[in-house]
Amino acid sequence: MSIQYLGQQVDANTEFETVIGLEVHVQLATESKIFSQARSRQESVSEEAVNKNTTPVCTGHPGSLPSLNKKAVEYAVMVGLATNCKINQKSVFSRKHYFYPDSPKGYQISQLELPLNEHGYLDIEYGEQGEHSKRIGITRIHMEEDAGKTVHFPGYSLVNLNRAGTPLVEVVSEPEMRSSAEAGAYLRKLYAIVTYLQVCDGNLQEGNFRCDANVSIRPKGSTQLGTRTEIKNVNSFRFVEKAIEYEAERQRQVILSGDRVIQETRLYDSQKNQTFSMRSKEEAEDYRYFPDPDLPPFELKDAYIAKLRDGLPELPDAKRDRFIEHFGLSKYDAGLITSSKILANFYEEAATDKGDARVIANLLTGEASRLLNDAGQEITESKFTPKQFKDLGRAVNDKTISITAAKQVVGILFNDGGDVDTVIEKAGLKQVSDTSALEPIIDQIIAANPNQVAEFRAGKDKLIGFFVGQAMKATGGKANPSLLQEMVIKKLKG
Ligand code: ADP
Ligand code: MG
Repeated sequence: MSIQYLGQQVDANTEFETVIGLEVHVQLATESKIFSQARSRQESVSEEAVNKNTTPVCTGHPGSLPSLNKKAVEYAVMVGLATNCKINQKSVFSRKHYFYPDSPKGYQISQLELPLNEHGYLDIEYGEQGEHSKRIGITRIHMEEDAGKTVHFPGYSLVNLNRAGTPLVEVVSEPEMRSSAEAGAYLRKLYAIVTYLQVCDGNLQEGNFRCDANVSIRPKGSTQLGTRTEIKNVNSFRFVEKAIEYEAERQRQVILSGDRVIQETRLYDSQKNQTFSMRSKEEAEDYRYFPDPDLPPFELKDAYIAKLRDGLPELPDAKRDRFIEHFGLSKYDAGLITSSKILANFYEEAATDKGDARVIANLLTGEASRLLNDAGQEITESKFTPKQFKDLGRAVNDKTISITAAKQVVGILFNDGGDVDTVIEKAGLKQVSDTSALEPIIDQIIAANPNQVAEFRAGKDKLIGFFVGQAMKATGGKANPSLLQEMVIKKLKG
């Protein structure tokens, strides 16, 4: 059987590439909702009594009038500026009509033509050591209101409108990502930006930052786009990556079996690691968009945009580059540390200069991150303090302890907290840098291994590792390794 796809003959040996475009909904952390006075922050939306955080605007009562929240516009412009968008000075809200119980007006106020921000981009880095980089286009970023929540019970469902009218920006990318790794890097970078800007609380569990992934495949080298499916509302970066991988492989099998991919919305089940069909989306949905007559087009003055541009904080890429320059970090370490504002601030408090900065970066991105990840903790929720890492950096730098011992100290601090010098003292981790203490140990090892000594002297330089290793063992790992090596060489050659 010969199978045609996108005008090409394909079979099991065809190399396919994945094409991904992401739509990310970012909840803006304004105090009140986008078109009403009702409170909007997380606790008012999820923890307060059901349907309490509402006004007649949120519940869609006839005659109620929306009025635009200035702060929401400000935050949305900041997101546009930080993602290199063109800010449209004139912007229009439209009604997007559809029926769903958690949207009582029968339409969602969104933007279609003249969205607030257009034609931006993000630079991403990915790969084992962050060795790949790529620029991903952002088509548009528009403002819209969130819907309420339908809560399902056995036999019936109830609607909670506390979230209805929460301000969102939807960030729509170009279909320019080619792997789950690129998609993951894009999401992490966008997440870093909106949390650096402090326009989003960034709570993934609460759905503050949710992603729809559009996925299609095509034979590598093809310039046409295949039929896409859209995977809805995955709220963990890792799960988005897995869902994309699963979906690309599913589509490959559909095509190779002679079927066609159906344009549809799919859901991802993280337990089964599968996507399954939710609803077909073959025809473009007819939302009967039209400009909302209750909300006149709004115009932003140059001076207003310029002021917001000047007020932007240092963003992740700039901070990363500064850390590379100022602290001498590798691009990879600097990228890891600046991927989280919390971690970056912590690091900056701990590191002083190029002397200790790399050791501290190493401990933070290695041992400390591993412990924090396992415990599901942010560094600010842990027992770690910047001063501890400053002290550790100094202790490694002046050779009081080895880097291996420093990792041990990090483990102890994670569990018990405390002062670095006391921990080093108590755990007996001080390096022996005292030549008079090391000398007899080395002498003893040389005396006990005459064969190795002869081989070394005959030119087998590699054996230096053996002697240093033996001596290190004899000191319980506490000898200063460079000093030890220096002394062993001197003894053997001398
Ligand atoms: P809709 O609003 O119906 O989802 P859009 O045209 O706004 O449709 O596209 C949404 C997203 O889908 C964008 O991020 C875009 O890059 C992506 N996309 C469009 N076509 C494809 C395709 N063939 N494969 C993968 N992604 C696509
Ligand atoms: Mg979509």
